[in-house]
This record gives sequence, structure tokens and C-alpha cells, in this order.
Amino acid sequence: MESMKVFFADAESSFADGHFAIFGVPFDGTCSHRKGTALAPKAIREESYNFETYLWEHEVDLEDIPMHDMTDVLCSNIDEMMGGVGTTMEQILGAGKFPIILGGEHSLTPPAVRKFKDIGVVILDAHLDFRDQYLDEPNSHACATRRVFDIVGPDNVITIGVRSMEKWEQQEAEMHGLNFIDAPTLRKKGMAKCLADLKRESIYLSLDMDFIDPSHAPGVGNPEFFGFSPDIVKECINELAEKLVGFDVCEVSPPYDNGNTAALAARLVREVIGVVWKAKKEAE
Ligand code: MN
Ligand code: MN
Repeated sequence: MESMKVFFADAESSFADGHFAIFGVPFDGTCSHRKGTALAPKAIREESYNFETYLWEHEVDLEDIPMHDMTDVLCSNIDEMMGGVGTTMEQILGAGKFPIILGGEHSLTPPAVRKFKDIGVVILDAHLDFRDQYLDEPNSHACATRRVFDIVGPDNVITIGVRSMEKWEQQEAEMHGLNFIDAPTLRKKGMAKCLADLKRESIYLSLDMDFIDPSHAPGVGNPEFFGFSPDIVKECINELAEKLVGFDVCEVSPPYDNGNTAALAARLVREVIGVVWKAKKEAE
């Protein structure tokens, strides 16, 4: 059923009935190296059909979870993309639903985060993304963490797994007081301790797929080696569980993929949906 694959697997509820609202952002207009992230929402949706609906570890079945796929926002230029993400987020949050965004490039995260009140943000990324602008574009994907930092302030964002930055970018991050945890520190401390610094009760998680090692996730815009296995992303999702209020996965680049990066992104979306739903049911 090829035609069904325009929607994420098991996203069969109406918008009104869905607790999770998925949408795609097929945009790669500011990509600094490998182009192709615009093709990722389609690839992630297609790969989502690979998986069983039952998440055995959590004893939840995705078939029983109300979710809706709103399809893609229009993205012919960065202003349209940012506007589209903003209005779609307003629609989702206004209806009390949980947004799940399929990127696209990392530049989608600031306009999404902007729509929350009192939000803490966790970013998993190989890159610091703390440039004030890149190639004269302040909304470039290379500035994603910087823009999020501008919105939520130094106490409410933490970026984890960083292993690539310019020297001046590092100095600027330190000067501004960005809480960033480099890859060796994450290895030493473990994920749970890194997340313990978060003060806010509601957390948005942004997963730049290049956080994961290219051996597991080769199809990304800017691959960085000495990264992490997918287990630690799963650990992060499970650790945050009841605090999570929104999620994006970005930087998958299908032209450079063997299929596994898009499949892993789809699997991690399914993990978020299962884990957040289970935590919500347990809290009721
Ligand atoms: Mn990034
Ligand atoms: Mn990155």
C-alpha cells in the first residue's frame, strides 16, 4: 500500500482524536555540506513501516495510541519554513497535543521551541551550533543551538554529545554560559547525570541525528565520528519520559543513507511516542 506511506505508520487518528501530532519539514535551504535533508520526512515515514507496532519493553502497542500525521509544511524558503513551523506548532499546542517534527534540517528547532512557555530544551548534537550567523544567515542550521539559547536563556538549554566546534565558537559558548556537555564528558558521566541539571518540568528534545556515530547513522548532512550508539538516545528518551512535551528529529540526509539512518529516526520517533504515552497513562 504505497499510498498509505504518505503518513507515518500507525498515525491513523484524526487531528481531533490524536494525542500526538506529527508533521514534516522538508527543508534543507541552509545546509552547509551534504544537501538532501529535505527528502528526510518522506524517507522516515517510509521506514516507519519496518517496525512491529508492539514495543515489548514498554508493553505498549502503537496501534492503540492515538496519533495523527499532519503531512508536511510548505518550505520553499527559510521564512516560509519558519512561519509554517510556527503556525503548525500553535495549532498543535493550542489543541493540547504533543508535537513530533520530522526534519529537515536543524533550523526548524528555534521556531518550534519559541511556541512553548517555560520550556527546557535538551539538544543531542555532535556540533555546537552556536554561531551567531553562518554565511550571513542567523537562522542557519549551524546556528540552531544559539537561537534556542536566545529564546529560552542559559539556564534552560543543555546540549549533549558535542565533539565539533570552532575555537572561537567554543569561547563564545563559554562566555555566554551555554551548558554544553562534550562527548568524552558524556561518556564519563552517563546520560542520566547530564540531564540532572535541568530545572524546568517540561522538556523539549531535539535530536540532531549526527549525535549518533556515522557507523549507525551514516546518512546525515555533516557526519562526525567518535559518536554514540543509538542506545544512549533511547536512554535519554526514557530518562525524560514524563517531562517530554515535544520532539524533533533532524539532519537525516537520504541521498547519503543506506536506509538505516531514516529507519533509526523512525524507530526513535516510535520510542518517544510509546514512552511518553506510557508515562502519561501511568500518571493518570
Ligand atoms: Mn545541529
Ligand atoms: Mn549536528
